[in-house]
Amino acid sequence: MPDCDILVIGAGPGGGSAALTASRKGLSVIVVEADPEVGTPVHCGECLSDLAVENLDLDLPEEVIALRCKGIRVIFPDGTEKKLTESGYVLEKHLFERWLIDQSIEKGAMLHRKHRVTSMERIYNKENQFNNWKINGKGDQFPITCRAVVDASGVSGVASKLLKMPSEVEVIAGFQYEMLEVPNDGYLDFYLWPEYSPHGYVWMIPKEKGRANVGLVTTDKKGAVKYLNQFIDDTYLKDNPTTNPPWRKEGMKIKPFGGTIPISGPRSVTVGDGLILVGDAAGFTSPLFEGGSHLALWSGREAAELLASAIHDQNLSKQYLSAYEKAWKKRFPPYDKILKGKNALYALSDKELSNMARCLPEELGNMSVFDKLWIGCKLLIRHPMLYTKRVISVLLSFGYSRAKHFGW
Ligand SMILES: Cc1cc2nc3c(=O)[nH]c(=O)nc-3n(C[C@H](O)[C@H](O)[C@H](O)COP(=O)(O)OP(=O)(O)OC[C@H]3O[C@@H](n4cnc5c(N)ncnc54)[C@H](O)[C@@H]3O)c2cc1C
Repeated sequence: MPDCDILVIGAGPGGGSAALTASRKGLSVIVVEADPEVGTPVHCGECLSDLAVENLDLDLPEEVIALRCKGIRVIFPDGTEKKLTESGYVLEKHLFERWLIDQSIEKGAMLHRKHRVTSMERIYNKENQFNNWKINGKGDQFPITCRAVVDASGVSGVASKLLKMPSEVEVIAGFQYEMLEVPNDGYLDFYLWPEYSPHGYVWMIPKEKGRANVGLVTTDKKGAVKYLNQFIDDTYLKDNPTTNPPWRKEGMKIKPFGGTIPISGPRSVTVGDGLILVGDAAGFTSPLFEGGSHLALWSGREAAELLASAIHDQNLSKQYLSAYEKAWKKRFPPYDKILKGKNALYALSDKELSNMARCLPEELGNMSVFDKLWIGCKLLIRHPMLYTKRVISVLLSFGYSRAKHFGW
């Protein structure tokens, strides 16, 4: 008999959601997490939409909420502001991840911290059919045998690497400071200012009592912190103090925190015999603003539900689990279209971005067909050259960045 039904690699939002769903379904679950603590170091702006919380049927406790927010304000290089009004939360993400895992432990899951998976071996029966896994790694509970694996190891994509599955993942770098005394009106500020974040954007994500995550994503990984410092120096944030986030050890030198985010879209293969990839490990992030928590939570739940049926039906074949690929292809917006919009967006100069922005309605979230036609007319009259820059694709990608489409 294997040690457990499901081994979950990684205790981030994807792993937490998979572990909770699987243990609620009565499966035996072991979660292995490479870090000594769940949730830290934080590598996230920490925002999550109401819709994500509703979608996952989560009842967030107060201590994981850093601020209730009204939505996103998109700010363009000339200062033009537009809104994507969809309410949500700024989280204390490490506390959120711990809460999620604690919920699954209450339902019977086991968590082994400081356990890093380094090898995965499929065991076959006499008929040469997949039977179970033997998972090995650094940590005294290894080797662990299990019927199925959920790979929720984030951007490192451990199963894809170890099993030599197709891995064509491109990443972008993101860093942020925790800042103090930052005023807020309940909106998250996203600055589309190429000067400060080539092929990315800058954010101010507020928390209560004037705390805020101020950060950026950019394809220029080496220059990221330099750009961030420059943005702070050149804006209203210039004199605001920076601090270390509460989860860092006291006395440490203040420095930004962050990580990398997959930006090339879902991996071409996200299932195998007895295996499902979820969250960042599957390449699931929102293509324009690169949020991934909602998608990780959703895919973790979807994977666990399917594995519960597969174990019940005694069929963990890749073919059976391909229902997962059908499910995410049906739910997620067309990635290629949004990438097209994103590329068109990043090809615009500061001036073109601002010209486009001035033709947009105040609210970007719920443009009607009439609104879109009206914008089209304004653009045609005021800035016809923008049509040649595929600005319509840009507008479409804004639409797809809503929480409804797993944007945040
Ligand atoms: C700077 C930055 C800002 C972001 N801001 C936002 C935001 O505001 N909103 C949002 O929705 N998304 C945001 N994201 C993206 C978001 O953080 C991720 O999409 C999300 O955390 C993915 O969840 P996950 O569970 O798939 O992976 P992760 O959260 O990365 O969790 C993976 C876990 O697996 C563990 N692990 C890795 N390898 C192994 C191994 N071999 N063995 C055992 N354990 C292993 C890791 O230690 C980690 O704990 C941001 C990302 C960055 C870098």
